[in-house]
Amino acid sequence: MPFDSTTLERPGEASQRLATLSARLPGLIFQCYRSAEGRICFPYIAGADSPVLGDAHQRLRLADDGRHAFDRVHPEDFPRLMVAVERSAKGLSLMATQFRLSRPEGGEAWFGVRAQPEPHGDGTLWHGVMVDISEQIAHQAHLRELSDTDELTGLPNRRKLMSCLDYQLSLSCRHGTPLSLILFDLDHFKRVNDTWGHLKGDEVLCRLATLCQEELRGEDTLARLGGEEFAVLLPLTPRPQALAVAQRLRERIAGHDFGLFPRRVTISLGVAEYRIGENREALIDRADRHLYIAKESGRNRAIDAPEN
Ligand code: GH3
Ligand code: MG
Ligand code: MG
Repeated sequence: MPFDSTTLERPGEASQRLATLSARLPGLIFQCYRSAEGRICFPYIAGADSPVLGDAHQRLRLADDGRHAFDRVHPEDFPRLMVAVERSAKGLSLMATQFRLSRPEGGEAWFGVRAQPEPHGDGTLWHGVMVDISEQIAHQAHLRELSDTDELTGLPNRRKLMSCLDYQLSLSCRHGTPLSLILFDLDHFKRVNDTWGHLKGDEVLCRLATLCQEELRGEDTLARLGGEEFAVLLPLTPRPQALAVAQRLRERIAGHDFGLFPRRVTISLGVAEYRIGENREALIDRADRHLYIAKESGRNRAIDAPEN
């Protein structure tokens, strides 16, 4: 038989049912009022998320003064929340945002809030819902991590390098600080695959990634651009120091026993320092030209200028 609420509902039961429902909701429903002077309170708030709401005493306090609820918003998210509140109040438009909230018993969780405003007295009254979205946020972070990572080596991939590069270029332009880029490519890597097989080639790429990482500082970004090409982004590093890093990488790889006797694995590197104002492609192109020169002039070398 289909569910028929009218057969179940008796006079006075609707409010009882609403109370039962709101006490079990996996989230919160609320009304939030903000007066013209900016005083905030939550005249109605209900839901099963008691760790957020606190005890009955804390709920009563919220009904009178909502400021302490905002005190628990993560400092990095607070400005965004305030902008959303202002925009919603001004345009009487739906407020939809997300933020981290510390829980009274410790720890924090991500919450998504959606609230519809309406004018009320001399202020604004929102009717809203708020749900814990920590799992979705963690899932999104995991997907982002996957899309930024090279599957074989676990290094940042080309996409991630480009976004790091854009960020570092903007810092370099703003503060006038040096920034260098190294591009490098394995020498005659095709021969490694042809002689020892593709799987052994993969192993060499992974080992090489680990060895290079060991030579770099935490703030440097080593990325795999694709195939047997890699890049290192070196913030706060002028060209001479970047060239020294490139030589160190070259020596470390040439000196390592990859188990391919009698063949040694070597790399050729191109180094370029960012020139304030030029675009990303110009920097990459210069490093690439220097890498080409390194290949042309015999491989297993690092080049930082056309005349070297
Ligand atoms: P060069 O010194 O001029 O760079 O010579 P090279 O043989 O390294 O260059 P080439 O571009 O002719 O060949 C690149 C080789 O890299 C061919 C390809 O099979 C190999 N390669 C690219 N990606 C991978 C990978 O993911 N795994 C393995 N094992 N090999 C790869
Ligand atoms: Mg190569
Ligand atoms: Mg290549």
